[in-house]
Amino acid sequence: MKQIKIHDKSFGISISSESIQDRVSIIAQQLNKEYAEDTPLFIVVLNGAFVFAADLFKRLTIECEISFVKISSYQGMESTGILNELIGLSENIHCRKIVIIEDIIDSGNTIEKMINELIKEKPAEVKVATMLFKPEAFKKTYSIDYIGFEIPNDFVVGYGLDYDGLGRNLPDIYKTI
Ligand code: 5GP
Ligand code: MG
Repeated sequence: MKQIKIHDKSFGISISSESIQDRVSIIAQQLNKEYAEDTPLFIVVLNGAFVFAADLFKRLTIECEISFVKISSYQGMESTGILNELIGLSENIHCRKIVIIEDIIDSGNTIEKMINELIKEKPAEVKVATMLFKPEAFKKTYSIDYIGFEIPNDFVVGYGLDYDGLGRNLPDIYKTI
């Protein structure tokens, strides 16, 4: 088995680059079909989703736009809890069809915050496409529209995902061993 070391941890291959590319093509076909009559706006959640977004976007044949956002969490001045702010969205999303592009959905907290921020602007629709999904960790009740792969509760790196800054450039996905 192909093994790598990042910082202090060893990783083994989990999903090959070939499998990832095949799956991305299928998701692109589904999106091309669903949005054939629309001009959706794809919103990419940085940093991790940039690799998946680039591969997916190249395969879209529909009319579409793309934008990149970050979610910053910080403690409020009153220490009443964590405030979340969406940084980087300059497009007017009112009445638009939105597809959020994520690298991985774990507990679902991040994607829920994203959706809650976006629906304040009253888009026509918000759907979610994620490369990876951990069903055992997911705590929400709603369903995710497009999923690349469902994976167990392992920590994974590669294909945009990092371990303490490293590993995002790996074309395959690796899990801790
Ligand atoms: P959630 O809010 O759904 O619990 O977590 C989402 C975020 O946690 C992801 O965007 C990612 O940054 C991080 N995350 C969750 N699981 C993993 C993992 O296995 N590997 C890496 N590198 N990041 C993860
Ligand atoms: Mg993410």
